Amino acid sequence: MAEPVHEASHEASHEAAHEAAPHEAAREAAQEAAALDRLADFVDRHPRLFVLTGAGCSTESGIEDYRDANGDWKRPMPTTYQAFTTDTLMRNRYWARGMIGWRGFGRARPNAAHAALAHWEHGSAGHDGDRSRPSLLVTQNVDGLHEAAGSRNVIDLHGRLDRVRCLACDARFGRDAMQADLERCNPAWIGLDARLGPDGDADLEDAAFADFVVPTHAGCGGMLKPDVVFFGEPVPRERVDRAFAALDASDGMLVVGSSLMVYSGYRFALGAAERGLPIAAINIGRTRADALLDVKVEASAARVLARLFGDAF
Ligand SMILES: [Zn+2]
Repeated sequence: MAEPVHEASHEASHEAAHEAAPHEAAREAAQEAAALDRLADFVDRHPRLFVLTGAGCSTESGIEDYRDANGDWKRPMPTTYQAFTTDTLMRNRYWARGMIGWRGFGRARPNAAHAALAHWEHGSAGHDGDRSRPSLLVTQNVDGLHEAAGSRNVIDLHGRLDRVRCLACDARFGRDAMQADLERCNPAWIGLDARLGPDGDADLEDAAFADFVVPTHAGCGGMLKPDVVFFGEPVPRERVDRAFAALDASDGMLVVGSSLMVYSGYRFALGAAERGLPIAAINIGRTRADALLDVKVEASAARVLARLFGDAF
């Protein structure tokens, strides 16, 4: 396997080095250009890539990443399925923070990364169709921004935050209706503001969650949960099976904006390696699969993908 190509060093003196030695910036730019060339070549040589995207694909849409460049948590751990379903205070806390966070999250729009991936899937008029395109786009994100950008062949591995599911009767409906109910039941909370998180959550550590009212399903009185896979909750088997079927039909894998720290995504990198498929990644910081990568570009997903696919066809 080839050595991964890194855009920049991770030295603590990184910022200072820029000021002290302008040639360092030029060297890094040259390294990034070389990495981009290698990635473009990788895409050319593998016309049926299995694509896995993560939080780094949505950061430029204003949705903050969970993890720092070392793959460590930047924020408190997300609510677990066990806590959500058994602890009323935790459930109140989730929905209170979610009610605040949704106002920004629900307005988030696709960025150049989403647009470039959709462009890659569809191509543009005049092309002979004999080019590379993703065999499947699997996303760990729950923001729906790939679909909003026009991608069609997508599996939302962890579900969609714009939908709500009743845990008693399995009914599903749009999050906007839930949002209206939440705001109607909790008018005192509407004025609160907080930082936007990757799961539509928000930081409201000091608020009194006991007073928050969480609506139940009007149809049956059942507990309502966002239609997303929580930590501690299995990904629905059908999604995993469909993704692995696509991996079987692929000739390589491209990871975009994911540290692969969560096993539900990492297993596809393991699956690609088991099948002898080469793997490329665009990610700022280390990934759990670094040892498996043939090509790595440590740069913004939006910038790299726009260069690769934005106006290529
Ligand atoms: Zn119900």
